[in-house]
Amino acid sequence: MGKNSVNDSAQTGATETFRSLAEAAWAVRENAYILGKTKVGCALLTSGNKMFVGCNVEHRFRSHDVHAEVNAISTMVANGEQEIRCILVAAERNNFTPCGACMDWIMQFAVKGCLVAFSSSPGSEPTIYTAEQLMPYYPH
Ligand SMILES: [Zn+2]
Repeated sequence: MGKNSVNDSAQTGATETFRSLAEAAWAVRENAYILGKTKVGCALLTSGNKMFVGCNVEHRFRSHDVHAEVNAISTMVANGEQEIRCILVAAERNNFTPCGACMDWIMQFAVKGCLVAFSSSPGSEPTIYTAEQLMPYYPH
């Protein structure tokens, strides 16, 4: 399976879903607080189709940096939700996937078949992976 391929179940209805996730992720990305170069936005959908967003918030003590995915996931949990159906990350990068720590957070709340997408520019076609593709040997 190539890195841009999407399985059949992922494709169904995915276009509209990812369009709204991408729009929200690019919008919240504007609020990113960065000391480095990369603003990141993230939007996720829960199993009940509620959307939560987050941006990266960097700290002068860089070990305190909050990544956009963790921000969105924390907001989801703070709002009483705990199941991620799909999550999209927006950043001006050619290729980008959540870092290992963020994948740990995603895997903790991912439902079976959870999708992880990346948008490299507003309005572009997102690259869509399954969480399984990115973490094929993750312990369950
Ligand atoms: Zn991260």
